[in-house]
Amino acid sequence: MVIITMLLLLDDLLSLIAPHKCKRCGVVGSTLCQRCINDTLKEINPFCVYCGAMTNNTNLCGKCRKKSPFDDIYAVGYRRGALKHLVGDYKYHSEAASCRPIAQLLCDRLAPTDLPDDVAIVYIPTIPAHIRRRGFDHMGLVARQIRRILPCHVASLFIRVDNTSQHELSERQRHERIKSSLALNAKYIARHGVPQSVLIIDDIWTTGATLEWAAILLHRAGVEKIYAGVICRQPKD
Ligand SMILES: [Zn+2]
Ligand SMILES: [Zn+2]
Repeated sequence: MVIITMLLLLDDLLSLIAPHKCKRCGVVGSTLCQRCINDTLKEINPFCVYCGAMTNNTNLCGKCRKKSPFDDIYAVGYRRGALKHLVGDYKYHSEAASCRPIAQLLCDRLAPTDLPDDVAIVYIPTIPAHIRRRGFDHMGLVARQIRRILPCHVASLFIRVDNTSQHELSERQRHERIKSSLALNAKYIARHGVPQSVLIIDDIWTTGATLEWAAILLHRAGVEKIYAGVICRQPKD
């Protein structure tokens, strides 16, 4: 926690010399300015993350809901334009300051939905090799920022049990790999129990394999309501 605070403090200091610019309009100050956060949210055109069908303030259509382990899914948009650069620079170029606009986008996206008041925020931990390279666990950092905005708690329900990246894997390989890569955090659960409802947050929905496996593990552990909140959906080519 101290390390993360220091990391953001250092980033704030560095931004005095090399200021951040909004990925969308170029204005100096933040990696996505408040006006562009608002505009991005105004442009939300909900679509189903599975089949792409138009939906109504959710990203899970009625048909796909029947075979999804999620009670609901919320996404900000497709992985294009400013969203693509925001998430990409955050994740691959260690632009730690972007945890703030990313957390803000997720919170604002979730605000008009019916999420339970006591929902626990959960993230999929990044594999250790990537944490070493980036200097931080990118979704863990976003989860902590969300906690500053919303009255919620972050539950460390998952651990990574191997060190393998899913990058470059096919959809089928991802489904197989993730099963040996992600596990419930037994220590945490023994101490705190499992929450009734959980919101799993992530940056990009590609095949959904990781998030679905996480949801299956949570169901097995006794979590009743499971939601997903993602920044962007990778467009289907
Ligand atoms: Zn802007
Ligand atoms: Zn669908």
